[in-house]
Amino acid sequence: MNFELTEEQVLFKEAISNFAQKEIMPLVDEAEENNIFPKQLFKKMGLLGFLCPRYPVELGGGGGDKVMDCIMTEELNKVNCGIAASLMVQGGLSTQPIFKFGTEEQKNRYLIPAIKGEKIGAFALTEPNSGSDAASIKTRAVRDGGNYIINGTKTFITNGPICDFVVVAAYTDINKRGTGISLFIVEKGMEGFSVPRKLDKVGNCSIETGELVFEDCRVPAENLIGEQEGGGFDMIADTLTQGRITYGSRCTGVAQAAYDLSVDYARERIQFGKPIIKFQATRFKLAEIAMNIDIMRSYTFRVARMYDQGQKVRKESSMVKLFTSEVLQKILADSMQIHGGYGYMKEYPIQRLWRDGRLFTITEGTSEIQRLVIAKETLG
Ligand SMILES: Cc1cc2nc3c(=O)[nH]c(=O)nc-3n(C[C@H](O)[C@H](O)[C@H](O)COP(=O)(O)OP(=O)(O)OC[C@H]3O[C@@H](n4cnc5c(N)ncnc54)[C@H](O)[C@@H]3O)c2cc1C
Repeated sequence: MNFELTEEQVLFKEAISNFAQKEIMPLVDEAEENNIFPKQLFKKMGLLGFLCPRYPVELGGGGGDKVMDCIMTEELNKVNCGIAASLMVQGGLSTQPIFKFGTEEQKNRYLIPAIKGEKIGAFALTEPNSGSDAASIKTRAVRDGGNYIINGTKTFITNGPICDFVVVAAYTDINKRGTGISLFIVEKGMEGFSVPRKLDKVGNCSIETGELVFEDCRVPAENLIGEQEGGGFDMIADTLTQGRITYGSRCTGVAQAAYDLSVDYARERIQFGKPIIKFQATRFKLAEIAMNIDIMRSYTFRVARMYDQGQKVRKESSMVKLFTSEVLQKILADSMQIHGGYGYMKEYPIQRLWRDGRLFTITEGTSEIQRLVIAKETLG
């Protein structure tokens, strides 16, 4: 398999990197301090085709592939994890089910505006008492004539407080564990849908994360995703599979940013009369980080290419997520160590990466859940 980026991909990487440096970097501090996502980015990036690079041109996307998605994700995460997360949900979790399984009408109404940055999407699976055990969700959708009535509470939802629509997982048949789940598109402003709480986090502060409540929320039957009720669990698995590949690039971007900061700091910091980069202890840490970044990036792109070729990558995508997010923890710990006491001070950017990157072994399936998937796929 050829691991080199094509000329087009290299140009895309440069373009997205320039955009991130010039247009996103200046917004980061304010967004982090105020816990507010700079919403203007959606339209700006949509216009440039940077929001959803892998979706077809006829839908307003970049006409690219998963590799392009990964390139973009890595570059965005080098600049800021929180902002990158909101954009990842737009190009992945919230739109993939509509792209893959939605009707023409749903694509016109939600997917195309999302790709253009005119509508913000969210994806709501997790509930207060249902995280890793997704089949235990309590949200219900009951058919009532031409509508469904949805009742339930979702939590930790990325983009929840700012979304225009949210893809919601709910049971339409409670007697079928897992397979009785369906996905619905609920719009902001639909009666019975509210976002009572924005959640306060220790990291990724520029993501707006919320709790969502559906109280007798009436949703038109045409907002059910898929031809018929049920099948939501497979759609969720499909959505998470592609998302876990992207996660590899998320981790790689953060690892690269931590490495770059650590090298700069180690060159400048003088102790015992010389820059600490001259000490073998520092050099060995940096050497190991450089090696791991190379492995993280190559492995992620390898699985992204397998996905683009139409191969089944459920196991591999879990391997990417597990490997890159766990290795990242050691990289961030070593990077903090290289920074000494200054790294613990808020004025040094390494602490933000350390706080932000801690999340990555938890979201889109914890490391324990990835191990369960890999074991099941490998051992039966
Ligand atoms: C910032 C943030 C953003 C998020 N965004 C979204 C979003 O946009 N949409 C959405 O739907 N969700 C979102 N989530 C939810 C996220 O996916 C869940 O937090 C995650 O799936 C874990 O669920 P939980 O937090 O309930 O932990 P739990 O499932 O309660 O797990 C707690 C611990 O028990 C372990 N554990 C659980 N079951 C097993 C088992 N069978 N074997 C071994 N260990 C086990 C877990 O690995 C973990 O270590 C977000 C979460 C956060 C923090």
